[in-house]
Amino acid sequence: MMIVMKRGATTAQVANVTARIEEMGCQAHLSQGEERTIIGIIGNGRPIDREKLEQMDGVERTVPILKPFKRASREFHPQDTLVSVNGSVIGGNKLVVMAGPCAVESREQMLEAARVVKEAGGTILRGGAFKPRTSPYSFQGLGVEGLRILGQVRAEVGLPVVTEVMDPELVPLVSTYADVLQIGARNMQNFALLHAVGEAQRPVLLKRGMMSTIEELLMAAEYILSHGNDRIILCERGIRTFETYTRNTIDINAVPALKQLTHLPVIVDPSHGTGRRELVEPVSRAAVAAGADGLIIEVHPHPEEALSDGAQSLWPEQFATLMHGLRTIAAAVGRKL
Ligand code: PEP
Ligand code: MN
Repeated sequence: MMIVMKRGATTAQVANVTARIEEMGCQAHLSQGEERTIIGIIGNGRPIDREKLEQMDGVERTVPILKPFKRASREFHPQDTLVSVNGSVIGGNKLVVMAGPCAVESREQMLEAARVVKEAGGTILRGGAFKPRTSPYSFQGLGVEGLRILGQVRAEVGLPVVTEVMDPELVPLVSTYADVLQIGARNMQNFALLHAVGEAQRPVLLKRGMMSTIEELLMAAEYILSHGNDRIILCERGIRTFETYTRNTIDINAVPALKQLTHLPVIVDPSHGTGRRELVEPVSRAAVAAGADGLIIEVHPHPEEALSDGAQSLWPEQFATLMHGLRTIAAAVGRKL
């Protein structure tokens, strides 16, 4: 439920209402708009006496929130949440492009990739040290050694790093190397992991599960938000459909739907979304046109030698061309790159 305070309600009136909510064993979540204050109530499962709250000084009305996600909802928090990562802001006018190889394979490969990404205008370097693979016999990532490489390349090239964490116990370790913690599609509902990254107080890139609904994605974000960590970037990375020509099907609907339902920034992964490098550029354009706040793209210095996801990894020149072309689309929708 939300309490809409009257225009010009005093600080003391807001404090009184907040105190009453806490006395009821609930949590109050304040959202200070330009015109009025909205107080969101996170309940404890017990019914809330709306009438009592409506009689308090300064209260205009109470509004029930019917959606199961509260902190993630736009109703609760009308303004866009801006997630800042080492000085660059995600969710504002400027688009973010995270790019790099699927997996960290060697220091040389990461250095080369990072230079390609930086030169083309990418702002965050991606690369998995811990890889969730369908087969236990596929390359699983370099693990801690991969994290060390990411740390070195980050220092040398000067790009912040996003990398996946798969184990709640490894969240503190991964946090020492990563500027953004990635929760992969397969772990979107790994609740222990969501609790752990909620505690980490680091920005989180939360990827939509390949068989998850938009609502389930927002409920996963709610787990992280419930720990007070609101630095969450949502990612549409394609869902399973009957189509087999592409690896997944990008749910372009999810972009404007999420932008309407939540205040959290939304990016798109056209690499895992299509599985085919020749589709990555047009789908990136579609994502930006649909209102995405950015992209995460796989680019490899030598895709033919990649240990994972080579077929969807862009050649360095392709990435540069994509970035260049994207500027026109960004400008057309009033965004910058
Ligand atoms: C990734 O981005 O490295 C990845 C494994 O993607 P997803 O979790 O979306 O499959
Ligand atoms: Mn990949």
